[in-house]
Amino acid sequence: MELELKSKEDLERMRRAGQIVAEVLERLREAVKPGVTTLELDRIAEEMTRKRGAVPAFKGYRVGPRVFPASLCVSINEEVVHGIPSSRTLKEGDIVGLDFGVTIDGYYGDAAVTVPVGKVSKEAGHLLAATRESLWQGIRTVRAGNRLGDLSHAIQSYAEGAGLSVVREFVGHGIGRNLHEEPQIPNFGEPGRGRLLREGMVLAIEPMLNLGDPGVMVRDDGWTAVTCDGSLSAHFEHSVAVTADGPVVLTTL
Ligand code: MG
Repeated sequence: MELELKSKEDLERMRRAGQIVAEVLERLREAVKPGVTTLELDRIAEEMTRKRGAVPAFKGYRVGPRVFPASLCVSINEEVVHGIPSSRTLKEGDIVGLDFGVTIDGYYGDAAVTVPVGKVSKEAGHLLAATRESLWQGIRTVRAGNRLGDLSHAIQSYAEGAGLSVVREFVGHGIGRNLHEEPQIPNFGEPGRGRLLREGMVLAIEPMLNLGDPGVMVRDDGWTAVTCDGSLSAHFEHSVAVTADGPVVLTTL
């Protein structure tokens, strides 16, 4: 997909999309409890979205012959991203990644959080806190004139400094009138390298970090990515506009 620079009006529409995504994720965060099924979370997300006149962005999303069947991606424990909602219930001590996108008025918003189910282990708590912070380390580099490598490097160096590994197979992306636009945004890279950030770009930045090795594979369902070594994985994402004054996070309340 082409990279299209967004006008002020475009960004206002993207802000609306982002706000709906944030509202849904906030509600889901409250709904995450032991005993809740992941299908119930999907139902809440879809209902809230449609009530606001928006459309879930992932439902019906195609990759080749495969069609994503739900509104929400729910990824538990060693699942990295793209988990499919099901009758599986959440258990105390799980961590659950919630990745959600909507489209409204021709524009998309996309964000993700990973949340604890009840009380989680110390390692899991560290993974959640450090993955969230790695996203913010990346966001802080978003400024016209910086390069994509500055962003990628900020995430990687923070993640590895926290003793975590960076998933290579999935990356962030531009977002706008399409869910996925140029550029691809790796969560690893060299400072000073890569594409120049320009005012009007909007970046969906989404580090995926593992407690163990970085390798991931996709399960037989064709969607769910899991760590090869079975270690826990976390995922946080925001859609962020590049402005002359620095980053503007669109996927907030
Ligand atoms: Mg995304």
